[in-house]
Amino acid sequence: MSDPNHSAGIRSSAALVQPAPPDIDEDAAARIAFEGWGVTGRATALGSHQDRNFLIHPDGAPRLLLKIANPSVTAAELEAQSAAASAIVDAGVRAPRAIAFPEGSTTRSVVVDGVSMQARLLEFLEGDTLSGYLSPDVVQAIGALAAAVDVALAGLEAPGAQRVHQWDLREAPRVLAELLPYVTDDALRAELSHAASSAWTVIAVVEGALPTQFIHGDLTDDNVVTDDPVTRVPDGVIDLGDLNRTWTVGELAITVSSLLHHDGMDLPAALRAVEAYHAIRPLSEIEADALWALVVIRGAVLVASAHHVLATDPTNDYAAQNLQHERQIFAQATSVPLEVATALARMATGHPAQPLALPTGEPLLAGLAAADIAVADFSPTSPALHEGRWLAASIEADVLRATVTERGAAVARFGETRLTRSQAHDAASPRNVSLGIEVRLAAPRWVTAPWAATVLPTADGVALTADGIALHVHGCRASLPAGTLIDAGEVFAEASDTLWVQVAREGIVAPRFVSADMFAAWRTVVADPSGMVAGESTGLGVTATMDAARLLARRDESFADVQEHYYADPPVMVRGWKEHLVDATGRVYLDTLNNVTSVGHAHPRLVEAVAEQWRLLNTNSRFLYPSVVEFSERLAALAPEPLDTVFLVNSGSEAVDLALRLGQAWSGRRDVLAVQEAYHGWTYLTDAVSTSIADNPAAISSRPDWVHTVPAPNAFRGAHAGSDASAYARDAVAALGELAQAGAPVGAFIAESVFGNAGGVTLPDGYLTAVYDAVRAQGGLAIADEVQVGYGRLGEWFWGFEQQGVVPDVIAVAKAMGNGHPLGAVITTREIAERYRAGGYFFSSAGGSPVSSSVGLTVLDIIRDEGLQQNARDTGGYLKQRLTGLAERHPLLGAVHGSGFYLGPEFVRDRKTWEPATAETAAICRRLRELGVIAQPTGDHQNILKIKPPMCFTRESADQLVDALDRVLSTGW
Ligand code: PMP
Repeated sequence: MSDPNHSAGIRSSAALVQPAPPDIDEDAAARIAFEGWGVTGRATALGSHQDRNFLIHPDGAPRLLLKIANPSVTAAELEAQSAAASAIVDAGVRAPRAIAFPEGSTTRSVVVDGVSMQARLLEFLEGDTLSGYLSPDVVQAIGALAAAVDVALAGLEAPGAQRVHQWDLREAPRVLAELLPYVTDDALRAELSHAASSAWTVIAVVEGALPTQFIHGDLTDDNVVTDDPVTRVPDGVIDLGDLNRTWTVGELAITVSSLLHHDGMDLPAALRAVEAYHAIRPLSEIEADALWALVVIRGAVLVASAHHVLATDPTNDYAAQNLQHERQIFAQATSVPLEVATALARMATGHPAQPLALPTGEPLLAGLAAADIAVADFSPTSPALHEGRWLAASIEADVLRATVTERGAAVARFGETRLTRSQAHDAASPRNVSLGIEVRLAAPRWVTAPWAATVLPTADGVALTADGIALHVHGCRASLPAGTLIDAGEVFAEASDTLWVQVAREGIVAPRFVSADMFAAWRTVVADPSGMVAGESTGLGVTATMDAARLLARRDESFADVQEHYYADPPVMVRGWKEHLVDATGRVYLDTLNNVTSVGHAHPRLVEAVAEQWRLLNTNSRFLYPSVVEFSERLAALAPEPLDTVFLVNSGSEAVDLALRLGQAWSGRRDVLAVQEAYHGWTYLTDAVSTSIADNPAAISSRPDWVHTVPAPNAFRGAHAGSDASAYARDAVAALGELAQAGAPVGAFIAESVFGNAGGVTLPDGYLTAVYDAVRAQGGLAIADEVQVGYGRLGEWFWGFEQQGVVPDVIAVAKAMGNGHPLGAVITTREIAERYRAGGYFFSSAGGSPVSSSVGLTVLDIIRDEGLQQNARDTGGYLKQRLTGLAERHPLLGAVHGSGFYLGPEFVRDRKTWEPATAETAAICRRLRELGVIAQPTGDHQNILKIKPPMCFTRESADQLVDALDRVLSTGW
């Protein structure tokens, strides 16, 4: 074991005493390397209690590791370790091979202070071990590494290397007997002892049948290495000092337990390592059954051993720190009953995990007919939970009360994913799937035994036990004393109000609610009690939760592929509320992304207005009706003088397309000047002026000849980064001049007035003034694409161009106008609009329809009445200030662009070169999602988060976002 703090262990007991090796100084180590292997180089000591290890630095060659083993370790053991490393390397996994002598051996005796020891020179594996957060990819990789190592070692024969040591899980009972007395906390000692001995009863049954072979024996987070600092996916193993012939499954148990203390790790996440292991070296059914018992035992040994080390060496800070991790490992390993964790292991390895069946019996509530039972729906799509009602503390009681039938009851279902159990701003998945049913009675009733059973009154109800099954009924008063044996159908309690009914295997303490990813495992020890309340045809069955992978596959089959989706394994979104999104499992995410949803998801006022307008009328704008008039007036009033004329369309692309056509009609010219790195839409014209390579990698090279571009005027990157950003304006004006001189003066200049797609980057002061003046001087139009940044989102300004102190000739706007309803507009002068009429035709069937106009008016009313632009300024300002504070502590966060609710935290690997941290940004977004935050990258380098949330975003939400980001930047991605 490389970890010096574990090395004392039982080896210091009478049975396995190991003397510490003599000290060796660095010069002596360098001499040993030279004399033994002819290697010249400086030696630096690496700490180890057990052995003496030195890093050797030969000139111009990779570093080597001189390992002088504890005198108690035999040459045969060391040769086995060398052979194991070679076998592992042959299997394609990096491992520290030993330099072999011509005759094949790898060990050499050295005598220090009269003590004879074995030395070896190993290849040194560069790279880092694993710490902090472990991503799903990393967890899978470590499982796969363990499997690859076991496959590689399966054929290793080294009889002289078999030994007894404290980390061999076969020795656990003896090891714990020796080490547990060092745990002075009585409660902890009892807990360790109880958990380990219960786990051992599982092992005792299968012990003789578990396959054995040589295993690494300590293939943990500390003993795998990665040379990829971004993904941190490990590809090598080190330290074969615990190589031993023992249960093969012990390898995986040791690996899995080492994951359990990492930030955010839970059982389902750790089980990914098991799945990956199983895919390479399949686990038999008995191995799957033994796995978690061994994880628990390993956890107990780790904690007991750390106490032992601390008892013998109280100043050992490293051991004290490790003890925290080891306590976490043990706590996680025992966080659910062993049966439940084992069911997870079975499912991860494709072995059956049968749900617990409900024994047939008499009804629990005699006389309650199925027809008198109504279902209270707490699922994420339940109509009872609209308008944010799911967040009210009393919601479940309220819905049950409202649902209960006159003569009967209301029932909340078994296995239902209850949105009522979810909270906004939660970094973890909710525990929201019910392991029982809730029954709200219209009137008091007798509770009767479904089977012959023994009665046990509990704090707030009764438990009945029979044949290894326990029925728990909470919320009733026992009418019989403890220990009474009753027959099926006999009354044992009286219930007056709301009952909680749960059926579990006897001895299992099941919670009422578990997370969605734990439900199937719990189901193996908890039965569905619906049948005993409402008979066979209950109607209480819960429809299976949405299978996200299947839905995605269907999407792929029918929906054109080019229409991408967020995330490789997207959640299925079923509800939105304000700045929150809810998936089919009831997980609530903070939505930092949906700028389209300007006033918030499912805004009741908007829902009502739309429904009402649909009830009244929806048609096209060739008819006369008030809303299109009112909406056009409102939009015209929002635009600065002299823009007073409105076109209504259905999207940003349409709006920008029409704006470009206005430019062509006005000037009679086709040529357009656009800014690079922008996106303006997908129609023929708007796509032609879009050069964002994030959206289209061939964007620059595939421009038609009438599209001319100037570099993005970015003060952080590009030709004039950091220096005189106003030089960008000079360049653009010069470009316009060159085009005119070449006989191709442009008819229009188009730009986002704050650089939205590039991450909310503000244009250099005076940029638009200079370019607008130049384009107008040539007879062209200045078009402001306000599709993303306009409509109040910037906080300080309603329109982005206000930040630049200019007035464009044409405004194109969309997204926020409709809160997700397809709505877009062009606002311009009467004169420009008239010129278009002279040469063209315009009609949009749904543009400005009564429903669309009503949506547009209501959104504007909400923005005004709820002070959303002010909120963008205030809360957005607070968010920017907190994000900027993060940048002071985390070098990766190079800058925070933008203003209000259009912010762009930019990640860079180096603040001097501004090298984009693209892969990191993708990984950060993945982890943010795990923490309940939806965020996505933007910009040509995809290294900026596009923070543009619904404008009802609160300070609490800002804190959730920043705290989550802080956690990711601190603990890893
Ligand atoms: N302009 C800009 C700046 C945009 O960001 C977008 C959409 N991302 C569009 C135009 C096109 O809008 P739509 O998707 O509504 O067609």
